[in-house]
Amino acid sequence: MANKLIVNEYNISDFEPHENYKLVRIIDEKANFPISWLNTQGYCEYSLYLEYFQGVKTMPTKEMTIGTEEHAHLEAKFKETAQESSFEDAFELSKEEEIVSREMFVIDAEDGIRGFIDEIRMTPDRIVIIDDKPGTTAFPSTINQVRAYCLAFKNMMGDDNRQIIAALRQRGTDNIFWHEEFNEKNEENIRYTINFLHRLIDDKRDPIPTKNPNKCRKCRFQSYCEEKAI
Ligand code: SF4
Repeated sequence: MANKLIVNEYNISDFEPHENYKLVRIIDEKANFPISWLNTQGYCEYSLYLEYFQGVKTMPTKEMTIGTEEHAHLEAKFKETAQESSFEDAFELSKEEEIVSREMFVIDAEDGIRGFIDEIRMTPDRIVIIDDKPGTTAFPSTINQVRAYCLAFKNMMGDDNRQIIAALRQRGTDNIFWHEEFNEKNEENIRYTINFLHRLIDDKRDPIPTKNPNKCRKCRFQSYCEEKAI
């Protein structure tokens, strides 16, 4: 097994910004948004609208700060043993031996998504895409997020047809608490969800606020939100 730090060859700020939504870029004439938005959308889509359309700024929550620190710690530990590589070289090598990488950048211009995969394990037989989460619950939104990484990665594989596995792992542990094969049905489902979010970005529909007052009580946008359910 070899640890590879796959070099990100993209500078996303080189691409034209979207006229309304911060962080969205126009790539090949299509809006391209961060895959993590699919997870936020599951909590409350209206918060995406407040933060990235209206530009509301808040302090990060304690959970966000802890998550960022844990991510940075895991990445620093990985870098102690990893060697730099291009994606092409690492992918080619993985046809013969297992390659592990962290924080690998994926971009899919066709579906209009991009993001960083927490951990990817490429073996001669299959590709395992792992997203680290603070708990052990596979929410529909976290499943959407890891499926979108799978979709973006699949579009980078060319005609290689190795099986892709999506997995959720409890952050800081080896506990994979959910996994599935990224098959045709899951691909179709995630494309539908991605396109639904594109319709919001393209101003073809309104943002949907949650109706769950418990979410609103914990929401960092609560004091700015006219749609809160409390
Ligand atoms: S207060 Fe409620 S409706 Fe408003 S952004 Fe937060 S979670 Fe969504």
